[in-house]
Amino acid sequence: MDASGSPLLAATLGVLGMTAMIAARYMASSGLFAVLTQKVKPGLYQGMGGQIRREISWSLASAAIYGLPAGILAWGWNNHGWTKVYSDFSEYSLWYLPASLLIYLFAHDTWFYWTHRLFHDPKWFRRAHAVHHSSKPPTAWAAMNFHPIEALSGAIVIPALVLIVPIHVSMLITVLVIMTVMGVTNHMGWEMFPRALVHSRFGNWVITASHHEKHHEEYTCNYGLYFRFWDKLCGTDRGLSVKLAQRGPA
Ligand SMILES: [Zn+2]
Ligand SMILES: [Zn+2]
Repeated sequence: MDASGSPLLAATLGVLGMTAMIAARYMASSGLFAVLTQKVKPGLYQGMGGQIRREISWSLASAAIYGLPAGILAWGWNNHGWTKVYSDFSEYSLWYLPASLLIYLFAHDTWFYWTHRLFHDPKWFRRAHAVHHSSKPPTAWAAMNFHPIEALSGAIVIPALVLIVPIHVSMLITVLVIMTVMGVTNHMGWEMFPRALVHSRFGNWVITASHHEKHHEEYTCNYGLYFRFWDKLCGTDRGLSVKLAQRGPA
């Protein structure tokens, strides 16, 4: 069907296409790490079929919500040159490549930290965030296990950033890969990174499963997404999960 004549139809197709891609990305990434979990920690998800089915249902609903701003943006980028995404390496200095990556991750982390704290306000917790915490403990399928209100708050971050902050397409893909892999692995119930790295100076500032699992155990700490910066600054960092450590590294 030729959608070039109707902007509404073209944008709708963009949204549907993005939703399908995000749902496929979720099924592939969570599926991959669920299979890996079965190999590395056999039986870890034993008896959790009901919870996993709920995690998948909410996550697929979230895919549709993530698809909305992403699809509209993809359409606007294609047709009207919206977004500050660039593909020519010579457009900005090479040092800007890692800098833009860090800016995106830090901005996303900052948004997530403060909205996450807000979602722990009893009113918002009951209304929305309880869905995410219904995973006890979460599994690799919980990566997008969000109530639609919370999914919407997460869905607007990267689309808003690409309108404001220039980024090379390769760095944008890197951001999306990091977002996807950490979203899955931080919930899968075991630590995939070596102990030496998790307990290194670098590990002291970045968030992996050992840190986020503690949020799911205690609720009122470890709110960050990628970095421990805000948690440390605001006194909400309570270190790493002991239970997860007892399950041992891979
Ligand atoms: Zn979580
Ligand atoms: Zn939470």
